[in-house]
Amino acid sequence: MLRENLIQVQENINQACRKAGRDPSEVTLIAVSKTKPVSMLETVYEAGVREFGENKVQELTEKYELLPKDIHWHMIGHLQRNKVKYIVDKACLIHSVDSLRLAEEISRMAQAKQVEADILVEVNIAGEESKFGMTAQEAISLVTEIAALPGIHVRGLMTIAPFVEDPEENRMYFRKMKELSVDINRKNIDNVGMDILSMGMTGDYMVAIEEGATMVRVGTGIFGERQYPGADIQ
Ligand SMILES: *Cc1c(COP(=O)(O)O)cnc(C)c1O
Repeated sequence: MLRENLIQVQENINQACRKAGRDPSEVTLIAVSKTKPVSMLETVYEAGVREFGENKVQELTEKYELLPKDIHWHMIGHLQRNKVKYIVDKACLIHSVDSLRLAEEISRMAQAKQVEADILVEVNIAGEESKFGMTAQEAISLVTEIAALPGIHVRGLMTIAPFVEDPEENRMYFRKMKELSVDINRKNIDNVGMDILSMGMTGDYMVAIEEGATMVRVGTGIFGERQYPGADIQ
């Protein structure tokens, strides 16, 4: 089942790229493996996937220990400052930077561990109350402030779009994200790159790709529904 799902997702990515006149090599699929057992990650790994996304520090570090070292781990969940030290040298990219204080801690720990940390600034593009992330205007200021910190590099932007039945409802948000990324890129800020746009999940990654996503984060579409103990909703 996992292999079939994966092939389907890759085919959908190719189709969205064709529609948008983009090269599929511009789009990286991140397999979001949160809550899923290591055995399932191994199956997907054997099928060729090397990019995995986790949203909890402890789960990321546990799986990091158990799985091959050529995996690139993406930290996609809300990150607390006191946990930065556990993942700064394990995650290839932290997608969820939403404050200067968090960025300062990443900078501090990256220097302590003598690594360079790549990060994305998380934007709450739809302005949802329930979500982390900055407004577009705040994101521009934050990127500028982070640019001055040692050991940390802004590589682009990330957003979690609203949960919707019809992915077309999110198209305008994805478009706004692309515009924001182009605007920031035009400022030519030292130590800032805008080559990554992380947006699109199982429900809407094809639309996100049409609007310029370079990384899509797909969980359910590959691994199936998640089950959380004691909860019947995710
Ligand atoms: C869980 C999660 C995903 C994947 O969600 P699916 O709808 O299962 O594809 C993507 N991004 C983030 C930040 C997540 O927490």
